[in-house]
This record gives sequence, structure tokens and C-alpha cells, in this order.
Amino acid sequence: MIRIAVVGGGIAGAMLAWRLCEVVRGSAVHLYTGEPHRRADASAASGGLTRAFEPDAALCLEAADSLAELHSNRELREWASYRETGSVYLLPGLGPGTEGLVELVRSRLPGSISLISGAELSTRGTFRELPEGSVAVVEKRAGYLSPNAFRDRLLVELARSGAFVTDGQVDGITAEAEVRPAEGSPARFDAVVVAAGAWTQGLLARTGLTDAGLRTKVIQYVLGPSAGKNPDAFVDETSGLYGRSYAEGRVLLGLPTDRWDITPGPTPTDPVLTNRILDVAEARIGYRPPGRKVKAVTAVECYHPTGGLSLRPLAKGVYTFTGGSGGAGKTVLAASRTAARSLVRSLR
Ligand SMILES: Cc1cc2nc3c(=O)[nH]c(=O)nc-3n(C[C@H](O)[C@H](O)[C@H](O)COP(=O)(O)OP(=O)(O)OC[C@H]3O[C@@H](n4cnc5c(N)ncnc54)[C@H](O)[C@@H]3O)c2cc1C
Repeated sequence: MIRIAVVGGGIAGAMLAWRLCEVVRGSAVHLYTGEPHRRADASAASGGLTRAFEPDAALCLEAADSLAELHSNRELREWASYRETGSVYLLPGLGPGTEGLVELVRSRLPGSISLISGAELSTRGTFRELPEGSVAVVEKRAGYLSPNAFRDRLLVELARSGAFVTDGQVDGITAEAEVRPAEGSPARFDAVVVAAGAWTQGLLARTGLTDAGLRTKVIQYVLGPSAGKNPDAFVDETSGLYGRSYAEGRVLLGLPTDRWDITPGPTPTDPVLTNRILDVAEARIGYRPPGRKVKAVTAVECYHPTGGLSLRPLAKGVYTFTGGSGGAGKTVLAASRTAARSLVRSLR
């Protein structure tokens, strides 16, 4: 019987282990969740914005396939706490491939997507002072999910399906596909997949395996009281601002950071960035929280130069499944299905 270990209990590891259980017997799959890091991981902090459109073609295909699967499966929607709010993706202009990507999404989610000018979007309310020539990709069947709730549910389902779920850290992995947990005995597998998010680099370094170009970066957003109509889930490439309505009458708003190569775990927030988020939000969507009182949230994410979550071989029987690069919440369903199938095919 094939034996596969997945190291990391974020959405990537949990979803990959769950997919593997669909392809091989549950008892062949062993997931090490990495408690207590799990509580400060990217999946716990994720904004969960979920849509089908992405300006990158490969990511767009994965995001569209993931959203289509979510829409076709009520159980998955419940597990993921999916909420449909609609989505707006603002671009500075029509790129050479934009209309093709819109068609791709249309083929997966008929009736969901349309392309309108920034000027037309401005007339609908939320957005203001959009640059001339900007265009907006508007999706009806999009919104947000909770990677945190999703992986918690997947861990329960994994245990039910007979997979071994071990809370606790892995200290090392050898090039011979042996896993060395911090507590307990080492175990040999036919394949080990390191899905430890921002911790992957450090774990591989301790083990003497290459990190294959992985880097870490902080993501920061703010949660504030909603003021007026809450926006749909949106990304505004013309200003960098992204956001969505949040539970309990709050709103989530963020801007990209440039805080690279940060040690994963609880990370201080950057007050300068918090202020910048509020300034841009005021200018772009007229958001002004009373007293500018908001709560900032940070977490460290794993980035890969080619972007996107995928299975990457490191040594015979050793792989990574990380590099979500700030967007794996929306692509993980399709990425994990592809990864599980190709891993099992390579072992048979
Ligand atoms: C603040 C923030 C907002 C985001 N917003 C969005 C969004 O709106 N939409 C979207 O699509 N994506 C978003 N993302 C990206 C998405 O959430 C991430 O790509 C995704 O959650 C990454 O999941 P992961 O499982 O790869 O990593 P993580 O969730 O970080 O999980 C890594 C896991 O590895 C485990 N681990 C670590 N070390 C060890 C060890 N030694 N042994 C065993 N296990 C170990 C940890 O316990 C942890 O559970 C956001 C990310 C962040 C940080």
C-alpha cells in the first residue's frame, strides 16, 4: 500500500490530504498539522476573497475551476462558510488577454461575469475617482470563504475517513522521505509533501533540502466598523486596495506590503500601513471609520517566484505544496485535486 505524509495543517495541507483520501485509501494518508503554529498561520488570518477572475491565465483557470466546484457542491460551501457577495476586480486598462480570461470564466460559471468600464462602475456607487481607461471585471457568483473553518472541517473529515491526523511539529524530513516528528518515532513514507506555508523554507533548511526559491512576506489588512453600504469583495489594481464586507457589521480593507523574508508566526502590525490603508480607502471608496479606530491583522504567507499553489518536486519522493502567494484560498480546490492526482500517478 502507498503511504503518503503531508506536513502542515493549513488549508493547503488539509485539502491535499483530503484529496489524497479520495484517490487512495484514507489509512495511507498521514497529516502532521504543526500545532501550535496552526493558530498563527495564513489560513487562520486569511481574508478569503474568492472569485474566478485572475489576470494570470494559469491562476484564473484554477480559481474558476475552484469556484465552479464550490458552486456545484453545497457540502463544500458549508464546510468553507462560503458567502456570496459578488466581486469587482478593477484593472488600469484592458490587457491583451483580459477578454479571453473573461470568456474562460464564462465557460465555467455561465452568467456570472461581465466586463464594464471604470466610468460605468463609478455610477453604481461604491468606487470614486477611478483613472481614465480603467475597466472592471464584475462577478455575481463570487464572494468569500473561511480557509480557517474549511481546514478545521477537513481535519474532522480526514479523521473520519481513516487518515492519521497528528497534531504537533515535524522537526525534519530526509531526502529519503522520512518524517521526524518532534515527539514520537520517525516514519518512512513513499512520498512526503511539505505544505507548511511560510514555515516551509525553515523546515527545509533545517533538513538540508533546497527551498526552491520560496520566500515569506507579511500580509496586513484592517477590520473596521462598516460605514454606509458595505462593498462587495473587491480588488482595485489601480490603487492596490482590496476588501470586502466582514462579519458583525465590519469591513475588511488591505493594501499590499513589501515586508519580505519575515520569520513566520505572530507578527507586529505596521501602523504606517494601517494609516495608508485608511487614506486610500477614504479616497477610493469614501470609507471613514469614526476616529479612524480599526484593528490591524497580519500574518506571514509563503511566496513562490512562479506564483500559485502547486506540487513541486524537491527530491525523489519529497515535494512541496505551498507558495500560495497571497491567493491560495481561491485556488486550493483545483490545485489540490491536480496535485493529488499527479502525486499518486507518479507513485503507481
Ligand atoms: C492575511 C492574509 C490574507 C489573505 N487573504 C486571502 C484572500 O482574501 N483570498 C485568498 O484567496 N487568499 C488569501 N490569502 C492567502 C491564503 O490564505 C493562503 O495562501 C493560504 O491560507 C495558505 O495556506 P497554507 O496551508 O499554504 O499555509 P498556512 O495556512 O500558513 O499553513 C501552514 C501550516 O503548516 C504548519 N506547520 C508549520 N511548521 C510545521 C512543522 N514544523 N511541522 C508540521 N506542520 C508545520 C502550521 O501549523 C500551519 O498550519 C491571505 C493570506 C494572508 C496571510
